[in-house]
Amino acid sequence: MFKCCFPVRCFPVLMVILVTSTVTAQESSDRLTFAIAIHGGAGSSPDMFSAEVNQLRHDAMQQALEIGQNILVEGGTSLEAVEAVIRFLEDDPHFNAGKGAVFNAAGEHELDASIMDGSNLDCGAVAGVRTIKNPISAARLVMTETVHVLLAGPGADEFGELQQVERVENDYFDTPATSKAWNEFLKEQQTDHGDGASRQLPFLDMVTGSCIGTVGCVALDSHGNLAAGTSTGGMTNKQFGRVGDSPIVAAGTYAANETCAVSCTGIGEEFIRRAVAYDVAARMKYQGVAVDDAVREILINELPAAAGGIIAVDGDGRISMRYSTGGMARAAADSSGRFEVIWHEEPATSNN
Ligand code: ASP
Repeated sequence: MFKCCFPVRCFPVLMVILVTSTVTAQESSDRLTFAIAIHGGAGSSPDMFSAEVNQLRHDAMQQALEIGQNILVEGGTSLEAVEAVIRFLEDDPHFNAGKGAVFNAAGEHELDASIMDGSNLDCGAVAGVRTIKNPISAARLVMTETVHVLLAGPGADEFGELQQVERVENDYFDTPATSKAWNEFLKEQQTDHGDGASRQLPFLDMVTGSCIGTVGCVALDSHGNLAAGTSTGGMTNKQFGRVGDSPIVAAGTYAANETCAVSCTGIGEEFIRRAVAYDVAARMKYQGVAVDDAVREILINELPAAAGGIIAVDGDGRISMRYSTGGMARAAADSSGRFEVIWHEEPATSNN
């Protein structure tokens, strides 16, 4: 059912082909009433999973899309849709967010998330939380209940306690799959790289798939408002205290009604350096570039090969979902009747 055309380890060579071949943008100039797109992490080629796990991940993406779509059909806000979709995927052990968050180098879990309201540029984020079951909801509370944008570490966990969000022990986030991935990752590092391997970690991660499964959602609602959110456990074996792009507004997440809503996935350090999420919006604002062209240009011309993926939606409901890695679980729906979970690699010439 899930067929990948290319061996995963070939993807650096195939990066340009894949970037130019995975368009999922709609070319209509009509404004759609609503539109929603979801990613389940760059690097997540179906080749990395068993058929059973692929099916479970596929079904979870489909359910998440239904949740988001229903909220938007009923006139709910893009913020509500983004939070509900991400909460659902955080509770699914097959994604690197919430329950399935990967292990850091200390054998624990530190989770990052952010959310942004395109109608007023309000945003909220948490970084390095260890006991909050659904970091995306804590991020939304940072946005609505504080004057701040980003809370990190123990203060963020304590904020969750004060806000009465659901708390869990850190080992709640352990799963057999993430535990296995961490152990295999450590073994591979010892075998292949000996000392000094940590500087190469992010690049190894995208090859071995040990960071796959970050989740993100972008949406346009029937009120004309955009929103975006991203949630992750980061990268397997990341240094204790490391924060990636996902909780950094303008790097991993961005939304502004005048341009677009964006969620990124991939090697966080590369996305932070280039303020990638904001760069998509800035190209649209200052150069008049279409959302899908902005996303494609950044993946091809700005980011290193195989750095990750980007989903975005503009104020008319045009969706872009592109990546430069071996795959990216993704899904999209809109008011024209589109509803699709895209799981397999498209041939180089396809343009869906
Ligand atoms: N961007 C995330 C991070 O660097 C990881 C990912 O998207 O897979 O923490």
